[in-house]
Amino acid sequence: MKITKIETHVLLAPDYDISACSSAQDDLVVEVHTDEGIIGIGECDTNPWVARECIRARGTHCMGLGLQEMLLGADPMEPEAIWRKLYGGSKMTGRRGALICAMGALDMALWDIKGKALGVPVYRLLGRETPRKVTPYASLLPTGRTLDACRDSLIEKALKAQGLGFKAAKLEVCINGPYSHNGLQESDDSVVEIVAACRQAVGPDLVLMVDVAYAWPSAEVALRVIERLAPYDLFFLETPIDIDDLEGHALLHEQSPIPIAAGEWQNTHFEFLDLADRGKIDVLQPDVGRVGGLSEAWKVCNIAQDRGLKIVPHCWKTGIGIAASAHLAAACDVSPYVEFLPVELAESPLRRELLSTELEVVDGAIQFTDRPGLGIELNREALRKFEVRD
Ligand SMILES: [Mg+2]
Repeated sequence: MKITKIETHVLLAPDYDISACSSAQDDLVVEVHTDEGIIGIGECDTNPWVARECIRARGTHCMGLGLQEMLLGADPMEPEAIWRKLYGGSKMTGRRGALICAMGALDMALWDIKGKALGVPVYRLLGRETPRKVTPYASLLPTGRTLDACRDSLIEKALKAQGLGFKAAKLEVCINGPYSHNGLQESDDSVVEIVAACRQAVGPDLVLMVDVAYAWPSAEVALRVIERLAPYDLFFLETPIDIDDLEGHALLHEQSPIPIAAGEWQNTHFEFLDLADRGKIDVLQPDVGRVGGLSEAWKVCNIAQDRGLKIVPHCWKTGIGIAASAHLAAACDVSPYVEFLPVELAESPLRRELLSTELEVVDGAIQFTDRPGLGIELNREALRKFEVRD
C-alpha cells in the first residue's frame, strides 16, 4: 500500500472567543489517503495554520523537508518507521513544537489506516487482545466572567457529569496566572473555596482532579496552596507551576500531599524522559497529537511503566484525539483515566459535531467495539461547515 494524498482541514468554531483559555475552538484534521482506498484520520492540538504549513511546505535539503513530500509514496503499514523518517528529515525545522504536533496528527492517521487495513482496532495493534477498562474523566471548563459565575458553573457541570454516569471529573480552576479563563485574576483563597464547594456538592465518591494551568510562580508558593487543597481528596493537581521548572517539580514531588500531573504540552518522548527523571512528575499526561502520535505516546507509556508512574492522557480536542487516547489507555497497564470532554458539557461545536461515529461512554466506561482502526467517522457536513480556507 502507498500513501497517495494528504488532506489538511483547518477548522474554527464560528463563535470562538479569544479571551477563553480553550484550544477546543480550533483544530487541524488530517486525512491520509492510500492507493487501496483506505483513509486514515488524525488531529492535533496546536495552532492549526502553523501545523498545516509544517505538512504542506516543501524543503530544499535533507535536514529541512516538508512532511507531505516525505510521506507521499511511503507504506502506511509501518507508522514507526515513517515517524523516524519524518523526524530525521525535518530536524532543522522540527524536533519539537508545531512540527511534532503535525507529525502527531499524521501518525494517528497512519495507525488508523493500519487498523483498517488489518481489520482490527488500534488497541490490538498496540498489543492488547482484550481492551483494559478505560475510565474517562469529564473535563470541566467553567463559564462566566466573574468569580461567582465561574464557581457556580463548575459546581453545576460537576453535578451534571455525575448525573451522566462519570466516575471522575476534573475542575479547570484556572482563575489566576498566565492562562486564566476569561481574564480572571483571583486569589488563592478563591481556588481553595471553589474546590471545597465542588467537593461538597458532589460528595465523597466522585474522583476529582484539579487543573490550575501553571498558576503559581514557584514550587514554594504552590505548596502553600496545595497543602490547603489536601483535605478535598484530589487524585492529582495538574500543572501548578511552569513546565520548564523541573527542579520545582521535583520539590513538589517530595513535599506535595497531592500527586502532581503534567505533560500536556510536551513534544516527543524525549521531553517526557526529562519530566519523569528530573521533574519526578507522578502522573504523565501525554497528548497523543502533541507528543507526536501514537508511536511516541506508546513510548511515554513505557517510560511510566518502567518507573512506576501513571499515564493519564491529555486531550482537549474532538472525538478523534479522544479515540486515540482511549485506544492507548486500553493497551497500557498504568493508565487509570483518560481526559474526556463530554459532548453534553462541551462549549465547542467542533467537539459536539465533528464526528458521526465515536467511542461511547456507558456507565462511566469507554465502550470499545470491533470497529477497525480508531473506530470513528467524520461528519462530512460538520467538516465543511467549520473549515476555513485562509
Ligand atoms: Mg491542562
